[in-house]
Amino acid sequence: MADTSPIRIPDSLLPEDGRFGCGPSKVRPEAVEALSRVSRSYLGTSHRQKTVKDEVARLRRSMAEFFSLPEGYEVILSNGGATAFWDTAVFGLIRDRAQLATHGEFSAKFAAAVRSAPFLGEPTVVSAAPGTAATLVAEAGVDVYGIPHNETSTGVSVPVRRVAGADADALLLIDATSGAGGLDVDVAESDVYYFAPQKCFGSDGGIWLGLFSPAAIERARSVKASGRYIPAFLDLVTAIDQSRLEQTYNTPALSTIFLAAEQTEWMLAQGGLDWAVKRTAESAAIIYGWAERSSVATPFVTDPAIRSNVVATIDLAPEVSADAVNAVLRANGIVDTDSYRKLGRNQLRVALFPAVDPSDVERLTQCIDHVMERL
Ligand SMILES: *Cc1c(COP(=O)(O)O)cnc(C)c1O
Repeated sequence: MADTSPIRIPDSLLPEDGRFGCGPSKVRPEAVEALSRVSRSYLGTSHRQKTVKDEVARLRRSMAEFFSLPEGYEVILSNGGATAFWDTAVFGLIRDRAQLATHGEFSAKFAAAVRSAPFLGEPTVVSAAPGTAATLVAEAGVDVYGIPHNETSTGVSVPVRRVAGADADALLLIDATSGAGGLDVDVAESDVYYFAPQKCFGSDGGIWLGLFSPAAIERARSVKASGRYIPAFLDLVTAIDQSRLEQTYNTPALSTIFLAAEQTEWMLAQGGLDWAVKRTAESAAIIYGWAERSSVATPFVTDPAIRSNVVATIDLAPEVSADAVNAVLRANGIVDTDSYRKLGRNQLRVALFPAVDPSDVERLTQCIDHVMERL
């Protein structure tokens, strides 16, 4: 790698906040200050008592409002992040056969979890190359369909829509970990819209949340009633019952719950999901517009219809090393603009989550230009 130490980006170009990572992602300082104000009364107190249960209730209530939760849907949460939800779905939602769309690392991980479960039928995996999107297709006998709203490893997003012609009782599971809160959605078009809060919900990791349809709740109960072995930690019926009591099966990260509730209420105060969707679209227009005008940067996702408004992936021409650019940015306090490691491209990846100010995205593009001109 070239010696990049001497490049100093002028303060006047630097973004207000240099965190552009896709998870953990920028946590608003105001949310951390709010947490510090309740540190003695909330942190370090029992999750079985009112103080913490009220916070879980605030999180579930604000999520329901933010997503205009359809009649009968419920906000369920438990520990372990989106990765734990995959195993929870393997044990507690898939009856026998799943069909999964994979077009990147995260969707491939869920497919691998399903494939390795000895008690399930062989899933159908519809794959597409990174940078493009796979499409679910109706298939008789499939009882769960799964696709990510936004594939965080590649920056590809797809609309949330039911699979036309699917069996009447088939469920649609949407991995919305990076899409939820930043991309438009009609939750009624899914059965479980699940996510972890360290992306658009500007919190820390460690829990998963899911917006469950009545059919998904019913499925969890019927799979459990079948007598299948289900590890206690991954028992979805327990998660549903505990969530209704405003608690989790085992000890949650209290700060994660607080910060997620804080971010959700902040977004509601700004105008809710409509506001968030406009804000990420504004950031996306800035960074993709810059890349399209640049002679060395190009949006990785060639089809603008599936180009993500929450995670931008930008390829650089071979003569400019993305690693070198990222190293200089990091030395100047702009962090986590690295491409997803396994993708193996000469690429920058930038989170455009609602906590990120579009004006900071604008400044970031100027900083990248500044660095590329001097490398
Ligand atoms: C980040 C991410 C995950 C993993 O989330 P964890 O909370 O770390 O388990 C899963 N799916 C998508 C789409 C993600 O962006």
